[in-house]
Amino acid sequence: MRCFSCNNFSIDAVCKNCIKDFLTPEMIKREVGNIEVVSFFDYYLTVEFIKSKYTTSGYRVYKFLSKKFIAPFIKSYIESLDEQKPLYLIGIDENISRGYSNVAQMVHYGSKKSGAVALHNVLKAKNRVKYAGKSLEFRLNNPRNFYYSGPDNIDAILLDDTITTGTTIEEASRVLLEHNVNIHFALTLANAKEGIDY
Ligand SMILES: [Zn+2]
Repeated sequence: MRCFSCNNFSIDAVCKNCIKDFLTPEMIKREVGNIEVVSFFDYYLTVEFIKSKYTTSGYRVYKFLSKKFIAPFIKSYIESLDEQKPLYLIGIDENISRGYSNVAQMVHYGSKKSGAVALHNVLKAKNRVKYAGKSLEFRLNNPRNFYYSGPDNIDAILLDDTITTGTTIEEASRVLLEHNVNIHFALTLANAKEGIDY
């Protein structure tokens, strides 16, 4: 197999050298409404990995990133909790394109060996307008209109690949709160500053 980034031989989707050079977690924190959002990477430094979701390679890349970064982070978070009750992972819109959903990869591999429970396909957008490159005003005027079909009264972590303006996470969390879902925090791979090329 080959490294997604440098094309050298690698067992994993990303080789050790490229992990060292490009994938050092920064753990960037933002507040969106009342939700804390934690991101592993700066979007612009990791854009080739994040944008792999637009290609078939993204299947391997997101599996790798989720196993390498998301699952261990969630595992140590769960171990830090006093109260042991089920903690669910909810992806923000597991929309399938090119045969897979990058967010579903995050939910699936983020739950493996982490102690969290994957809750697939319960938070869907009725409106799939493209936000890429759009202003905050456009995003606010064209809400995703999420609907939630999972259980009420649960504890959860929200997952998405990127936070940009935060409008998506804010809208998703509002819908979940109506179902009394206690969101511990949202976790994204990348943090992008508002409105620039995403
Ligand atoms: Zn490499």
